Amino acid sequence: MIIDYRSDTVTKPTPAMLEAMMKAPVGDDVFEEDPSINQLEKMAAGMFGMEAALFCPSGTMTNQIAIKVHTRPGDEVICDKLSHIYQYEGGGIAFNSGTSVKLIEGMRGLVTAEQVEAGINADDVHKARTSLVSLENTSNRGGGSCYDFAEIQRIKAICSKHNLRFHLDGARLFNAMVAKNELPKLYGETFDSISICLSKSLGCPVGSLLLGTKDLIKQSRRIRKVFGGGMRQAGYLAAAGIYALTHNINRLTEDHKHAKLVAQALLKKEFTGHMLPVETNIIIFEVVGHHYTAKTLAEKFTTNDIYCIAISPTQIRMVFHLDITPEMIQRTIQIIQAI
Ligand SMILES: *Cc1c(COP(=O)(O)O)cnc(C)c1O
Repeated sequence: MIIDYRSDTVTKPTPAMLEAMMKAPVGDDVFEEDPSINQLEKMAAGMFGMEAALFCPSGTMTNQIAIKVHTRPGDEVICDKLSHIYQYEGGGIAFNSGTSVKLIEGMRGLVTAEQVEAGINADDVHKARTSLVSLENTSNRGGGSCYDFAEIQRIKAICSKHNLRFHLDGARLFNAMVAKNELPKLYGETFDSISICLSKSLGCPVGSLLLGTKDLIKQSRRIRKVFGGGMRQAGYLAAAGIYALTHNINRLTEDHKHAKLVAQALLKKEFTGHMLPVETNIIIFEVVGHHYTAKTLAEKFTTNDIYCIAISPTQIRMVFHLDITPEMIQRTIQIIQAI
């Protein structure tokens, strides 16, 4: 039995999801004629109380489209230094949009309104024009950390005061909303654009959605075509998304419970140093002592059929998801105890 904690992207569609995919009515989505994609976009926009949505192959694409639509070349984007848009999208901010970044040293990937305001450039010809603030909730490199919604509202007020667009990388937004007991509409009324991933903890094989106004989505549809992301009979994939939004949100509490159980077991071990607070489905901990480095401990786990990643020379990350069963959690805890 392989127990795979490398990412929540490793999930495979369940038989019920596959059946929904097989039955999907499809059409050419570049002509906006795929009934399943149209249904998914309408459903997601409705959940968040936003006007429209756009189905894309990846969360990198939805983020990059949003940045492209919100900025002009030479502008500056404010984000935390651990942000996925900066760290893990291949330099796309510069490549696709020709914009620079103002990186903020937040706490576990989360920034404050004061930090955002201090990061805004003066209206001065020497300076790049600040035009966009991008948050990440949950923060991946922050160990699945979640914003307090009050802080998001304070940041929103700063954006409104300075006429800045406000984007949310919500690859794992459902984890945050479930952990904090928040409603999607709260997010929908606060951000100009939201990216959500269906292929992470919601268990779909492929797909992300960008949400926003009708006008923003119209512009985004053009950029998606330019980026090569116009798909045809992709309704088979959208059907998985409809299934996931219907069935796989409330069960995220299970993943969060699993993460806490494994964290407790790890915290009893000498090799475990500082662990980021486990708020959702991610554990990130330091490996200390002379027995193991992050790399050799990850290898030790692998020899026991437990896969996880050394994300830095000193840190290991484990991500919990829908293909992790309670039996796998029991087995993992036994192995941790035995190492
Ligand atoms: C996974 C992820 C994305 C998007 O990744 P894709 O693999 O391109 O779908 C965006 N932001 C965060 C925080 C992520 O974890």
